[in-house]
Amino acid sequence: MKLNIGVIKGDGIGPEIVTEAMKVLDRVGRVYGHELNYTQLLMGGASIDVHGVPLTEETIELAKQSDAVLLGSIGGDAKTSPWYQLEPSKRPEAGLLKIRKALNLFANLRPAVLYDELKGACPLKEEITEGGFDMMIMRELTGGLYFGERSTEVRDGVLTATDTLTYNEDEIRRIAKRGFDIAMKRRRKVTSIDKANVLDSSRLWRKTVEEVAKDYPEVTLEHMLVDNCAMQLVKNPRQFDVILTENMFGDILSDEASMVTGSIGMLASASLNETKFGMYEPSGGSAPDIAGKGIANPIATILSAAMMLRFSFDLDTEADAVETAVEKVLKDGYRTIDIMSEGKTQIDTAEMGDKICAYISK
Ligand code: NAD
Repeated sequence: MKLNIGVIKGDGIGPEIVTEAMKVLDRVGRVYGHELNYTQLLMGGASIDVHGVPLTEETIELAKQSDAVLLGSIGGDAKTSPWYQLEPSKRPEAGLLKIRKALNLFANLRPAVLYDELKGACPLKEEITEGGFDMMIMRELTGGLYFGERSTEVRDGVLTATDTLTYNEDEIRRIAKRGFDIAMKRRRKVTSIDKANVLDSSRLWRKTVEEVAKDYPEVTLEHMLVDNCAMQLVKNPRQFDVILTENMFGDILSDEASMVTGSIGMLASASLNETKFGMYEPSGGSAPDIAGKGIANPIATILSAAMMLRFSFDLDTEADAVETAVEKVLKDGYRTIDIMSEGKTQIDTAEMGDKICAYISK
């Protein structure tokens, strides 16, 4: 199979971790007989340095022509980087928001997996994490409160700010379908999160999700109020398979779910549109504090590349091979510094990429 991948290495540790993910993709290509073509694209600070803006129309066009995009991270140190002297619409992060919108990436997927080998990093009690957990947070990314009309004005002599939360049934239906499709590839359970006891938008969310569920009789659907979900994530995370939720609830819950896994360098993510196209990136940022030192953990980016194989190319066997290789490397005791613990072997970014490659075979 021919895989045309747009690559945005980005800023900070971005180039270091993406290089390792490409190493792993190349290894998958060699072992399973796929041809990989990469198109290097600039975004964020790297694009500002060359073009004066965080994202050009040409980059958007080239990204659209790719089958999928692999992204490292963008941004710098807000206190010291000259990028942050620019007005907000010209700063690195503006490129990220713009590309998500231009590519219509409405579905954000963040797996939260507790690896047996990294249990020690989990802040929850052992009796709660016994047996591990493996959930997928599916968050709507282009609607709701963050994209609604907003204003700040003086009303009756008092400064008043307003944000609006709007969803239509088409927006809810398309993300719900994606959620159920993903559940079909997993343990076939969807927990839909809302605040239907208070919000109209949540009542429409619940009604629409129930309609979509009728097309997926093999999937168990459960509804949960967002405040209860925040509690359940720390009380009994094992109960979740796919968590389906709107933009703001998803923003908060996905961070909570990632933190209970204990390590930011392990967290993959994907943003998808209505086609097979997706943008795949680690959940962490550009980590300017460790950039250039060769010590960043590349696993989140490598697992994001595995998600790319699974969701954009339907290469489930290859994705499984990458995920299994990561587990084996951890089992053998190899760790980058961020997940290091006593008795384990500390290795650097490139060595971690090499070790994972070495475990990928048919
Ligand atoms: P961060 O995620 O970059 O760093 C937080 C902490 O986690 C740091 O101590 C860092 O060293 C560590 N860390 C992050 N990724 C790691 C990895 N792969 N291996 C080892 N350690 C890792 O968050 P921040 O410091 O708040 O933000 C830094 C910059 O990243 C900012 O400019 C911010 O805007 C940007 N950012 C970008 C994205 C993105 O590109 N999607 C996301 C979040 C933040």
